[in-house]
Amino acid sequence: MPGSLDVHWNEGAADCTATPQNPLQVHNYEPQTFILRQSPCAEFEANFIYLLIGSDKALLIDTGAVADSKAMPLAKTILELLPDQDGKKLPLIVAHTHRHLDHRAGDPQFASLPSVQVVPFDLEGVRAFFDFTDWPHGIAHIDLGGRTVDVIPTPGHNQTHVAFYDDRTGILFSGDFLMPGRLLIDDAAAYHESALRVVEFLKTRPLTHILGGHIELNAAGRAYRFGSHYHPNEHRLELAKADLTALPAALAHFNGFYARYPNYILANPIHNLLAVAIIAVAVLILIVWGVLRLLRRRRRG
Ligand SMILES: [Zn+2]
Ligand SMILES: [Zn+2]
Repeated sequence: MPGSLDVHWNEGAADCTATPQNPLQVHNYEPQTFILRQSPCAEFEANFIYLLIGSDKALLIDTGAVADSKAMPLAKTILELLPDQDGKKLPLIVAHTHRHLDHRAGDPQFASLPSVQVVPFDLEGVRAFFDFTDWPHGIAHIDLGGRTVDVIPTPGHNQTHVAFYDDRTGILFSGDFLMPGRLLIDDAAAYHESALRVVEFLKTRPLTHILGGHIELNAAGRAYRFGSHYHPNEHRLELAKADLTALPAALAHFNGFYARYPNYILANPIHNLLAVAIIAVAVLILIVWGVLRLLRRRRRG
């Protein structure tokens, strides 16, 4: 099913208080697929959230970075988008690409709603819910009625990470595993294996777009300052198959700190932090050594 990505995502503002923003932008990709974007002013992470509607059930991928329903009316918006079935709302599964808080902060808004199932976010819960018996191997399936979504384990950024492949649109929903932003590597070996796993999975399936959890780069591929509420001239949300097929080699050649590619940046935050700490300690030692030398000279003088 083809769809439209002809949309200008909310880019936030240099001064959010001076220019009030709608907290949630809703884009209808095709009649049964919605893309929601949280305003960079509401939360700098500015998450993308996806709603897939089948004939029996709907699937929500991630609940974003904001808990407060007044600041971010996510559940209310989703319920309005859900079609009725026998006088009730279509049952909804709320799943996550991974357990990082910016992908599940909105969960409590769904907790007490009837016919809504929230998938646990810890690894044991994810494994049990999707019935993975040999994690991170094997593929799970969610049958939404006339629409099947495959769940592919993709640990590496985070050990609970999964990607979702939708057979209706041919879209891979990739979370923080692959997006126009900083691919933060927690476990390099697992990440590399995950990239190979997804490449292999898509060899026999049509792929239209790869849609991730954030946009952190501008159109020139430069990252916005971390924490920025303003994203002028954003990079396109969608990545293509070539970005995925290049990922295993990029990960294999990764220097362990930082590497820039046209459509994403590889970074290991822990290694970078350690490097900065080591440099800081070295500079401190040099300063102390210099001061001691100066004092000794003076004393001699
Ligand atoms: Zn994450
Ligand atoms: Zn994230």
